[in-house]
Amino acid sequence: MSTRTLPAFLGALLAPALLAAQQRTVAPPPPGQAQAAALIAGATVPSFPRDQVLLIHAGRLIDGVADAPLADQGIVVQGERIAFVGPWAEAQRRSQGARVIDLTRATVLPGLIDNHTHLLLQGDITSEDYNVQLLNQSTPYRAILGARNAHRALLEGFTVLRDVETEGAMYADVDIKRAINNGEVPGPRLWVATRSFAPTGMYPITTANWELDLPHGVQVVDGPDEIRRAVREQVRFGADLIKFYADRRYFFDSTRTLRSWVNFTDEELRAMVDEAHRLGRPVAAHAVGRDGIESALRAGVNTIEHGYGITDSLAQVMVQRGVYWCPTIYVNYYVGPGRAAAGAPIYGQMIEEEQRAFGRALRAGVRIAFGTDVGGFAWTEPIAREFTYMVRWGMTPMQAIKSATTVGAELLGQGANLGRVAAGRYADLIAVSGDPLADVSELERVRWVMKGGAIYRDEIAR
Ligand SMILES: [Zn+2]
Repeated sequence: MSTRTLPAFLGALLAPALLAAQQRTVAPPPPGQAQAAALIAGATVPSFPRDQVLLIHAGRLIDGVADAPLADQGIVVQGERIAFVGPWAEAQRRSQGARVIDLTRATVLPGLIDNHTHLLLQGDITSEDYNVQLLNQSTPYRAILGARNAHRALLEGFTVLRDVETEGAMYADVDIKRAINNGEVPGPRLWVATRSFAPTGMYPITTANWELDLPHGVQVVDGPDEIRRAVREQVRFGADLIKFYADRRYFFDSTRTLRSWVNFTDEELRAMVDEAHRLGRPVAAHAVGRDGIESALRAGVNTIEHGYGITDSLAQVMVQRGVYWCPTIYVNYYVGPGRAAAGAPIYGQMIEEEQRAFGRALRAGVRIAFGTDVGGFAWTEPIAREFTYMVRWGMTPMQAIKSATTVGAELLGQGANLGRVAAGRYADLIAVSGDPLADVSELERVRWVMKGGAIYRDEIAR
């Protein structure tokens, strides 16, 4: 029996009236106890009555929409959603008797959204780092680490992750999502891609020894018919989106354009995107070089992942078609030197090219969504470090924050539910002590986290 269900069990033994009261709640303990329990147990899911009303007093509020922070705001939270946001006095009038959470010494922001993560991966600088996970770790073991990573991300202020493939761990992302949604383990809201696609021979683990049948980091698919069937299979088992690897073998040509070898034929990719869209699922393309990005855009994908070789003309196409870009900057700084030392210097050179691409895309107005590739780098690194690089490469701190809030929510088609502090949205909120507009690395020090009205971290509220 888990610690989460124990109070309900004891309640049932002690008094029928208590049990009845508990059945009216999302889960047993009242907020104060739940917070204390969360601090003690570390990995329990806080819970609260469905009709709970909280009044948050925000010293400063970055709401995800306004270009400047708002001072002295009140946020009324009813159940799992925000009921009202406005001047403190007005919020007070509208929520008589509500429990007050004093964040007057803090900056409150929407919960952060990372649109490119790998919960089932623990960092892979070298191919050995990658292979050992697929060869020596069972999927259940990897899923346990994945659940731990999800909890870690939530405590860092990431209330939503789009997890873009399990790297050989089958549908374990769907199970982690289910356990979170069922209240078994604490974690962010998840959108999951499941297994991802690449054709035969184009994704690790590969070996020169044809006698060995090694595990694959993707679902291997060839030909339009097989691809349509595989898309249906992934959707059947819980994929919220479809992910594929558009290219590999990156190189610079004589004009110093970042090029690549394309994985799928146009016919195959059209079938994949058409089938995914027919089933209501967006498509994310891992596309690094110009050739891979072109191939993905020809097929009609919804997002470009990495995209280091985005040219001016490709940026224009992305703007016209409303294709989002997840640039994943920090991961290159993390894996680049190690991969270059292991005999692939291109990983060092790609950083400079991506910085140029970032400038081009920013000027062209490409919708840039915060996406880190965490899992490619270790989950012990702060996920929010990406903000510092986005600002260093030309975004204002507010632009970078919006990329992880409003823009991130729009990428997911969840603008009406997530990404901003506004009435009707989920009460996914975070707070930091300092001013992230003066120093965006402040977001690496999130001190208070609420997801759906439940508080998961509390180091500054009074
Ligand atoms: Zn990735």
